[in-house]
Amino acid sequence: MTKAIYAGSFDPFTLGHLDIVNRAALIFDEIIIAISKNTSKKSLFTSDEKLEMTKKVIKNHSPQNVKVIQFSDGLIVDLAKKEGANVLLRGLRSSIDMEYEMNMAAANKTQNKEIESIFLMSDEKYRFVSSSLVKELAEFDGDLSLMLPVEVIESVEEKIRLKR
Ligand code: ADP
Repeated sequence: MTKAIYAGSFDPFTLGHLDIVNRAALIFDEIIIAISKNTSKKSLFTSDEKLEMTKKVIKNHSPQNVKVIQFSDGLIVDLAKKEGANVLLRGLRSSIDMEYEMNMAAANKTQNKEIESIFLMSDEKYRFVSSSLVKELAEFDGDLSLMLPVEVIESVEEKIRLKR
């Protein structure tokens, strides 16, 4: 049984994230999306909102072997161990992502050498998609339909309305 942890801030969960999860779900027995509870000042959503929203997306668009959890402070390799996962799944959009991810993978290796980082290349359609770009476009009422799952578009629009 090979379980993979897909950890991140997911503020919010995009079609790029969903594509990585669904492709990985065909490779691994189980995918655990772990949403960071460390919400920075720049976060649009609280961790609970992200959990609820991401669960809705996964229920509607992903196979049964994907689940969603939250995690707070701590090493990601410790979370993986606790969940019985031996893979850290990450997505790569560009060489900039790769530089960063190589360092993270090496750092995680120093903490637990039994846990492997495995990367999937972003689909071409989603290479430009990032949570921060989405937030910028949302501020100016941009069209988010090619970047976000429908469930997330509604939540982002509502959040931006409330902030005004
Ligand atoms: P973090 O704060 O950990 O970078 P993110 O939510 O931004 O969290 O991203 C989580 C993971 O998803 C990272 O591996 C990131 O590279 C990947 N990712 C983000 N956007 C995309 C995308 N459009 N296509 C593929 N992978 C992506």
